[in-house]
Amino acid sequence: MVDEEDLRFEIPSYAFIALARRGMEKISLDQCFLKDCDNQDVNLLEPFKKEESENEIKHTKKIYIKCKKCNGIFILKFETIKKVVKSTKAKDKEVLSMGLVYALDENGKNLGHIGYF
Ligand SMILES: [Zn+2]
Repeated sequence: MVDEEDLRFEIPSYAFIALARRGMEKISLDQCFLKDCDNQDVNLLEPFKKEESENEIKHTKKIYIKCKKCNGIFILKFETIKKVVKSTKAKDKEVLSMGLVYALDENGKNLGHIGYF
């Protein structure tokens, strides 16, 4: 039996979207990412399953979430790249990639790249 509260704790509250020249925009992950659903109430989102896998390059974590508003299931997929890519320019020490978050539907179909976490 998976503890729902523990799973909730594994989901970051926000992801960040890179905007062309305007920096980063913060979006809440406490929402349903299924089409035609506008649920943004965390109390209507029930994480119920976690899958983790790992290879040499990245660590992948999938959290399955049931939306109590549309009764659909979607998956938040978090990918952490192990080798942090740094810009080759000496002045630009910004880390280019830490983690990527995607939304998938129940069958694993990609609903889109959400952003970074
Ligand atoms: Zn929904």
